[in-house]
Amino acid sequence: MLLITCPVTHTDELVAERRVRSVTNHPTHVAMEVECPCGQLHVYRTGRRWEEARARVAARAAEAPVPA
Ligand SMILES: [Zn+2]
Repeated sequence: MLLITCPVTHTDELVAERRVRSVTNHPTHVAMEVECPCGQLHVYRTGRRWEEARARVAARAAEAPVPA
């Protein structure tokens, strides 16, 4: 499930993953098209947070000692 904020009704909506129409990777962000309960398609860009999370995971992996 995903929590989105509908730009039309300004309410938080829980939507199922199958409502995600498409996910497009861009160099700076990820664009996600979500079918909202309001009946419209909204595009959410999850770029910076996604990049930061990825960088954190990569940094952690680099720091972690290699298991013997
Ligand atoms: Zn909506």
